[in-house]
Amino acid sequence: MPEQGVDYPRNWNEFMDWFSEEEKCYEYLEKIRWKNGFICPSCNTKEEPYRTTRGRLTCKSCLHQTTVTAGTIFHRTRTPLRTWFSAIWYVTNQKQGTNALGLQRVLGFKCYQTAWAMLHKLRRAMIRPDRERLSGIVEVDESYLGGKETGVVGRWVEKKSIVAVAVELNEKGGLGRVRLRQIMDVTADSLIPFVCEMVEPGSIVKTDGWSGYSRLNEHGYIHDKTILSSSASPAHVSMPGVHQVASLVKRWMLGTHHGSFSPQHLDYYLDEFTFRFNRRTSRSRGLLFYRLIEQAISHSPEPYYSLIGGL
Ligand SMILES: [Zn+2]
Repeated sequence: MPEQGVDYPRNWNEFMDWFSEEEKCYEYLEKIRWKNGFICPSCNTKEEPYRTTRGRLTCKSCLHQTTVTAGTIFHRTRTPLRTWFSAIWYVTNQKQGTNALGLQRVLGFKCYQTAWAMLHKLRRAMIRPDRERLSGIVEVDESYLGGKETGVVGRWVEKKSIVAVAVELNEKGGLGRVRLRQIMDVTADSLIPFVCEMVEPGSIVKTDGWSGYSRLNEHGYIHDKTILSSSASPAHVSMPGVHQVASLVKRWMLGTHHGSFSPQHLDYYLDEFTFRFNRRTSRSRGLLFYRLIEQAISHSPEPYYSLIGGL
């Protein structure tokens, strides 16, 4: 567990102090990337490397050259690391996150696209590919995002997007972790793989009476089905967890992002929401900064053209 004030700054003043120069940012990244000391990616030798500027490291044994940022989302970036760090600090310190325009203003970028691409790269680092599945009691339902609504200004998608929501319920009935994913439709072919990927087998999965969930038992889950038509309680009473999370997602998309998103990028927004929601009780914002940097350096680089959906 990283220690407050030892592994990450506690506040903005400390942040400015820690990362006053570009070199300090490289040193910080190196410490997080190789926690037990540098290991040459070419010959696996564990030995202090030769160092030159901008995080360039040369293995003393085989003279292989590498950088701290190689193979991470900071790979070949033209943006200074100090700016990246400031962006990460800002994004993780804002309770509701930020949109590209907000980031552009705060960092003083001339170009909106720079802020937009930066945020999207960070969103991609917000989810660990090896994360654990939810377990215990889990509510699962679908929710709809987007579509036309009156009185709201924004670039709305033509069609509503369907989002599958899974929420852990803890023993006291409070909410645990969430998982969200855009799905194509509400058939079993879309819903069952979502549950299998997000929820540990053996868990109790609570759903409504929709037929798309009817074969959950065959996949190793204990299916707890509430048929709404035959029960007097409306959806937000019988499925309070997913109902609450779905309305938080909607409010966040409307508030921070003005309801404007393209279905193509929706999963990344959902990842950001998940990152924030699952760490909502974290006492230190600095820890979120640390975690995001840690995940950013274990994530592959994302060139701009892949972000905008090209090849
Ligand atoms: Zn080497």
